[in-house]
Amino acid sequence: MGLVENILKKIVLQNAIITMKEKLSESVYKIRLQSESIKKTQFTPGYFLRLGIGIGNDELTIKDKVRSYSVWDINQTEGYIDLAIATDSNGIGAIWTKDCKVGDDVYFKWKKGNFIVDDSADSYLMIGDLSALSHLYILNRGLLDKQVDSLVYHHNQNDFFDDINGKKPFNYYQFEENAIDKILPIVKQMETKMKGEKMVYIAGDSRVCLVLNHYLRRELKWNTNQIKTKPFWNPDKKGLE
Ligand SMILES: Cc1cc2nc3c(=O)[nH]c(=O)nc-3n(C[C@H](O)[C@H](O)[C@H](O)COP(=O)(O)OP(=O)(O)OC[C@H]3O[C@@H](n4cnc5c(N)ncnc54)[C@H](O)[C@@H]3O)c2cc1C
Repeated sequence: MGLVENILKKIVLQNAIITMKEKLSESVYKIRLQSESIKKTQFTPGYFLRLGIGIGNDELTIKDKVRSYSVWDINQTEGYIDLAIATDSNGIGAIWTKDCKVGDDVYFKWKKGNFIVDDSADSYLMIGDLSALSHLYILNRGLLDKQVDSLVYHHNQNDFFDDINGKKPFNYYQFEENAIDKILPIVKQMETKMKGEKMVYIAGDSRVCLVLNHYLRRELKWNTNQIKTKPFWNPDKKGLE
């Protein structure tokens, strides 16, 4: 292991242990990370982790040593975080997810950003693909008593998993990747039913984020602070952030 990785491990990243691994659906795994430091973290729904999945593997480039994963659930009394990781990408993150075991050490860094719960609006739209489902679930749990409509899509209907409370609160569609011609008409329809102050969360495929962002800003003249968007992956790139 090189000097940079040693510094990353000892100074920059925090350490946790995998204490649970479970298959949630055909291609999605739940991974539980346990650490004393999680008990003391200041947490807002929407925070995510930079996970050092390739730390210690000398065959990987620096870019392939880290992937981002959203916090699906957190228990600060017991000191654990649950992640839900989709493995259709078949990249280094997917391989790590399939191979990791209970008892393994992991290194991570907290990331906050702006794709976090904001309860200042009256009605919400949640839009995303399978990779964003856990992130949309935790945001949705923070928006009790709000009007929430949704469009979650994936090419395989059997891959949608329940939220941690055993519920499936969204509208789930079986669409191929980047099915913007199917997504846009549904979004247009849902938007007309939104009441009061409106806000949208869009995550997952960067192409879908881009088109919907343009539509809402340019055609519907929404303000940028009403549109929360976070590309999770891009077909031409590996490990987006
Ligand atoms: C803020 C943030 C939070 C995220 N949270 C989650 C999360 O909670 N759960 C989760 O599963 N992912 C999440 N992601 C995506 C995750 O970081 C990885 O990009 C993803 O797991 C793919 O990594 P990989 O190493 O397997 O593939 P990569 O090596 O990054 O990519 C390999 C190939 O697969 C393609 N690809 C990547 N993702 C997908 C996909 N979903 N469907 C189809 N093709 C894909 C890439 O374009 C590339 O061509 C998040 C990303 C960000 C930026």
